[in-house]
Amino acid sequence: MKTESPIKRRASRQIFVGDVAVGGDAPISVQSMTNTETCDVEATVAQITAIADAGADIVRVSVPSMDAAEAFRQIRARVDVPLVADIHFDHKIALQVAEYGVDCLRINPGNIGRDDKVREVINSARDKGIPIRIGVNAGSLGKDLQRKYGEPTAEALVESALRHVDILDKHNYPDFKVSVKASEVFMAVDAYRLLAKQIEQPLHLGITEAGGLRGGTVKSAVGLGMLLMDGIGDTIRISLAADPVEEVKVGFEILKSLKLRSNGINFIACPSCSRQNFDVVATMNTLEQRLEDVRTHMDVAVIGCIVNGPGEAREADVGLTGATPSNLIYVDGEPDHKISNEDFIDHLEQVIRDKAARLEQQRAEEAEKLILKTSA
Ligand code: SF4
Repeated sequence: MKTESPIKRRASRQIFVGDVAVGGDAPISVQSMTNTETCDVEATVAQITAIADAGADIVRVSVPSMDAAEAFRQIRARVDVPLVADIHFDHKIALQVAEYGVDCLRINPGNIGRDDKVREVINSARDKGIPIRIGVNAGSLGKDLQRKYGEPTAEALVESALRHVDILDKHNYPDFKVSVKASEVFMAVDAYRLLAKQIEQPLHLGITEAGGLRGGTVKSAVGLGMLLMDGIGDTIRISLAADPVEEVKVGFEILKSLKLRSNGINFIACPSCSRQNFDVVATMNTLEQRLEDVRTHMDVAVIGCIVNGPGEAREADVGLTGATPSNLIYVDGEPDHKISNEDFIDHLEQVIRDKAARLEQQRAEEAEKLILKTSA
């Protein structure tokens, strides 16, 4: 089975959000955003922790007021994951959170106002090594652009983004990333494709306000899938009207499906039918739930019968194939042992965990060997 993604990524300038590299040859990062009241420090810390535990590389927090900036100071002290502060208009908030250890400022320079204020924010960012994210959204295009284009379009989004880019260029500040989001898939995809040709900075992808868990997931997968296949995209955020933890899971599933990132188990499961020798759907649901904590990149096949079971199991690290009188467990692509339908979930979970532990050890040894080789 192909383990490397055939996608050739667009060459982009690399920036750092805290210790997370974005752009260049860095893995595509997954981020999400809190939806708690930022001033509720306990709730926000709990949600950031849950988002980070789900594997997110970066978490964004909106900071709409100076009170929220003070809350941000407390939040910053209690979490390790890189934090982006989402700020609109008020440059004083940006300056404040920069003092409090923010890792990236999401603020559109063109919305700050007077040039001296813009300069103050950029100088602070420069001094502290904080990148800026320009975030253009079809729902909040400037009035003049709305008049010029009549309605939000990909070209309007790009023109808006480039105006902000020009301001950062004028101040000689290249450490930024850009998003041009729309809830309409074609518009977002066209905008990112246009923008990708015009700047060297990393792109933050997202289909904004994509919808609820199911619809938003599909819309995001289709939109981001097209862009990622083009090699476009350095960091992604899935916008769902759902628990932000789900956004992280969906983000990784999209990247996993294109072999651009690994985070936990890649399940291969059949939809089941009357030929199944065990309850495939129930088994999958239980395994997904129980093995959520496993971060090891591995393939696990759960297939209901011998029609497709052996073929899939042979390509996986662990495979379960339904069969009569006993189901068959494969390890490393080879038939390993038989298992009856009675209480096999606990056993299967253990087989997968053991294999994950062996893979981790093997990868650590390989990494150590590589370090020794390069330092020799
Ligand atoms: S693998 Fe077997 S059980 Fe699963 S869908 Fe195909 S025929 Fe049905």
